[in-house]
Amino acid sequence: MSPRGWAVLTLAGLVVALAVTAALLIPWSRPPAPRADQLAALRDLPAEQVARGREFRSALRPGGWAALAVGLLVALALGLTPLGSRLVELAGRPFGDHWAAQAVLGGLAVVLVADLVTLPFAAWRHAVLTRYGLSTNGWSGWAVDLLKSYAVSAVIGAVALLGLYTVIRLAPRWWWAFGAAGAAGLVVLLSFVLPVLVEPVFNRFTPMEPGPLRTELTAMAARDGVPVRDVLVADASRRTRAVNAYVSGLGPTRRIVVYDTLLREASPAEVTAVVAHELGHAKDRDVVVGTLTGALGAAAAVVALYLIGSWGSLLRLAGVDSVAQPRAFPLLVALVTVTGLVSAPVQALMSRRVEARADAHALALTGDPAAFEAMQRRLAGINLADPDPPRWEYLYSATHPSTVERIAAARAYAREAGR
Ligand SMILES: [Zn+2]
Repeated sequence: MSPRGWAVLTLAGLVVALAVTAALLIPWSRPPAPRADQLAALRDLPAEQVARGREFRSALRPGGWAALAVGLLVALALGLTPLGSRLVELAGRPFGDHWAAQAVLGGLAVVLVADLVTLPFAAWRHAVLTRYGLSTNGWSGWAVDLLKSYAVSAVIGAVALLGLYTVIRLAPRWWWAFGAAGAAGLVVLLSFVLPVLVEPVFNRFTPMEPGPLRTELTAMAARDGVPVRDVLVADASRRTRAVNAYVSGLGPTRRIVVYDTLLREASPAEVTAVVAHELGHAKDRDVVVGTLTGALGAAAAVVALYLIGSWGSLLRLAGVDSVAQPRAFPLLVALVTVTGLVSAPVQALMSRRVEARADAHALALTGDPAAFEAMQRRLAGINLADPDPPRWEYLYSATHPSTVERIAAARAYAREAGR
């Protein structure tokens, strides 16, 4: 069989593996609480809080969608016309058109152009956040964060680009197989090292101070049978008033992180409810599942790009002879951008189901639906959430159930548990 035949077979295998993983490990059968209960929860929220959240979200909306549209247009303009391949050539010119210079500098130049055209929208977003008092980061802090994130992406991007085009040169017929394995490996590696190497670039993490709350949280994790090495506090207050917590890392790098803003604003019972939700993610291995689906998806993407890359009319549009050239990188970016936009609703749906399961875990673990509901109200109030966002936006991009869904779920739990 030809390399192409093997690639078709491999892609089919990866797609099946991805579908089976998602079917078995995502809790699909977790429908949201009845709409009537959600509307009752909405009526119980202070009208002023709901109005302010909606006003804030409406202020963010035009810029957010415009950034998506402009990002897409630029990716298409660079990938489906010879513009992008010229940019790659230009980046390699000072280095005698060396392939490695084209691959790394050209690749990063393409990504940078895409970032720069959406920069005004990012600045506009920061201005809105500041106007509503959510951001405590001045413009200089914002710029430093931006430069840091460019630097992190440039390092990871340079490694990935150099790896990909080295493999293409070493194995011109089978590069897609090595590239797929490499992409999957990179996703797994990043899951381990991001919390240790990248998160500290943006925040300082300190172990939660000893006291009744820390004792309670540690005891709860033990009761839950979840080995948690530490509960860390992030100094999020230096850039935001928003409250949050998350779990990241795998194995020895797994940790639960609580924003210092959350500790300052919420009652101990509410913090406990938040951490119980995060323990749910750890217990159900959501980071592992996310890493696994990410690795399978990345591998499938490499093979798919190889197969689509032999499509003559696409190559002609991009002004290249082969998808294996660094000059064809902008075409790959265009294809990945379109795939990302098309698959966003599916990713959001999977995320919402996983989040709803973590909520159910938190309710069962704490047995305290009142604190859970209070925590949801506080989260929505401080973060200026729309407790019941427009349906289309929810379906396209909401990674968490809405506030009214979460409150309705807590009340349903309370009814069933007779509390
Ligand atoms: Zn969560």
